[in-house]
Amino acid sequence: MHHFDLKDGVLHAEGVSLEALADSVGTPTYVYSSATLRRHYGLLREACDAHRGALGDALIAFAVKANSNLSVLATLAKLGCGADTVSEGEIRRALTAGIPGERIIFSGVGKTDAELAFAIEQGVRQINVESSTELDRLIAVAATKNAAPAIAIRVNPKIGAGGHAKITTGGAGDKFGVPVEEAMALYARVSSSPHVTPVGLACHIGSQITDLAPLEAAFRVLRDMTDALRAQGRSVTRLDLGGGLGVPYYGDAATPSPADYVAMAARVLEGLNVEAAFEPGRLMAANAGVLLSRVIQVNERTDGRRFLVLDAAMNDLMRPALYDAFHDLKPVRPVEGELLPHDVVGPVCETGDTFARDRDLPPLKAGDLVVFMSAGAYGAVMSGEYNTRPLAAEVLVDGERSAVIRPRPTYEAMFAREPMADWLKD
Ligand SMILES: *Cc1c(COP(=O)(O)O)cnc(C)c1O
Repeated sequence: MHHFDLKDGVLHAEGVSLEALADSVGTPTYVYSSATLRRHYGLLREACDAHRGALGDALIAFAVKANSNLSVLATLAKLGCGADTVSEGEIRRALTAGIPGERIIFSGVGKTDAELAFAIEQGVRQINVESSTELDRLIAVAATKNAAPAIAIRVNPKIGAGGHAKITTGGAGDKFGVPVEEAMALYARVSSSPHVTPVGLACHIGSQITDLAPLEAAFRVLRDMTDALRAQGRSVTRLDLGGGLGVPYYGDAATPSPADYVAMAARVLEGLNVEAAFEPGRLMAANAGVLLSRVIQVNERTDGRRFLVLDAAMNDLMRPALYDAFHDLKPVRPVEGELLPHDVVGPVCETGDTFARDRDLPPLKAGDLVVFMSAGAYGAVMSGEYNTRPLAAEVLVDGERSAVIRPRPTYEAMFAREPMADWLKD
């Protein structure tokens, strides 16, 4: 489900040659496909609309942390997409990109008083509360503004899932949310508060989940809690089902389709008469982006190891170093020849700066262009300037058009961010 294909022997993003982009913008550069973003949103929207009876007027709130570039957000905003945000900065990005407050959810395990105040001022749709102490602070902040923001309690259902221990969030020992019993008690405690309006429950159990079973189990927990809260006379009108659905990073991997995922949610919520929210991040953005890089050299050592040294590094794409993540690597111009095992590495002075070990690749040479596939989520957002490597550029393609949506900074611009201490100037 993406729009990165060969045309005339060269890999293209929609109608734009990646070779031409590398020549004009340089490398490393993230390239995003608008058509892919639209397709992913469209598939989810269609599935939600087909299940209006069970899911109500469901909100699809893109998890901004997956890809927060303003042009990416604006592309989604124009489709009616909402935003799931985890900081004041992300709320500001969503608003700047044209996502109205009423489609913004504010989540996160450590929101400051200032962030809570900002969210209230912007009239966000809902604040997902993750602890009783946060709830107390929110009530205090809301009281000073004479407000009563809509809240959902984030439940930790003790069902962790995901592609790696570091991206599992719903396990009993994970820092996110409160256990079921505590969520019930919090809901009861605030139902009479004049300064918050409890509207429902939320959960998000992990990321890169490739099996619907744990998600279904978590949704059932929310359903049972809804029944129990209503039996106590509480109002529950919204269920936020989080994100987490995985994508096929390996070419032939099978992951549940968005349609099956939404249909499962509809089955679980059938008859509850709530409004659902989905918070997809990876599902929307991962396959909508690639990281374009040029081969610096190939090091063939006498001990037999072969290193493909790229001009992209762990500071540009951190997922392999952070989570042992797999990204398919494709040459921009297919290369003939025997596949040989390569270690794919960047120039950063860390052994962790290794994208892949023993990856079978055709004979590539200095100057060749390659792309890391499925790099549109948790890629550029995590990039940094370690080793004083300028932030990777970002480009958005739409049909035949392309635009640089984050230019690579110059060294002057990078250094200008670090004013010299007065006493060191001469
Ligand atoms: C990260 C996150 C998401 C998105 O997760 P994906 O796996 O990218 O879909 C959704 N909701 C919350 C609360 C998150 O923290």
